[in-house]
Amino acid sequence: MANITFCPVSDEPAELSASDAEFVKIECPRCGQFKISRTALVMIKGQSRADRETLLNNARRDAQGGVGIPFIRNLTYEHQRSRAASTNVSLDCVADNLL
Ligand SMILES: [Zn+2]
Repeated sequence: MANITFCPVSDEPAELSASDAEFVKIECPRCGQFKISRTALVMIKGQSRADRETLLNNARRDAQGGVGIPFIRNLTYEHQRSRAASTNVSLDCVADNLL
């Protein structure tokens, strides 16, 4: 028997198709099937709708060629990765100046 919940990304009624101590699995008519860790589930409530959709899109990209189901693990990981990306940009600039 499926549990009905609200999608943590789109706030629409969705099916809670699986859950354990680590994550829940959501089947949303709008977002599709994805997993979200319990840590992220708590943190994502404070995010804007656009930021939540970005997190899901990032998880979808990461899932390609992997386990197949997008998994939003935590929110700080994404922020760290964007910071790493901007660090790479500045390192490229430094390298250009050296050449
Ligand atoms: Zn949704």
